[in-house]
Amino acid sequence: MSDRFIFTKFSTDCYHCKQVADQIIKAVPYQAQVACDNCGATRVFVPRIEDVTQPGTFTKIGCYDVWNLLETAECRNCHVTGPHDLTIGCRHFTVRCRNCGFTHFYKFDLEYMAKDELKV
Ligand SMILES: [Zn+2]
Ligand SMILES: [Zn+2]
Repeated sequence: MSDRFIFTKFSTDCYHCKQVADQIIKAVPYQAQVACDNCGATRVFVPRIEDVTQPGTFTKIGCYDVWNLLETAECRNCHVTGPHDLTIGCRHFTVRCRNCGFTHFYKFDLEYMAKDELKV
């Protein structure tokens, strides 16, 4: 995938299989997903169109605590490769460029179990 944007993993206890396992995190401009390496539980997020201005919209705690990660990526806006803040919760996924502040918002779309697909 040439337009891969973020590809990382975060080890935590899976909400589905309850094991501590790598949660594989991928984001491209049109989709983001988090998949458990152990059981294959996958959550898919799609870009959110609405302008999100109220604080609180993205701070709801769902099945997970919110993960705050830092990942190096090339910004789609300023094209600088540098740190991006990832904020991932049950219902939302955001990627924010520290250089220019450009933020991708995704919202939870669906969940499925796809262990086989993880081996691709
Ligand atoms: Zn799992
Ligand atoms: Zn940027």
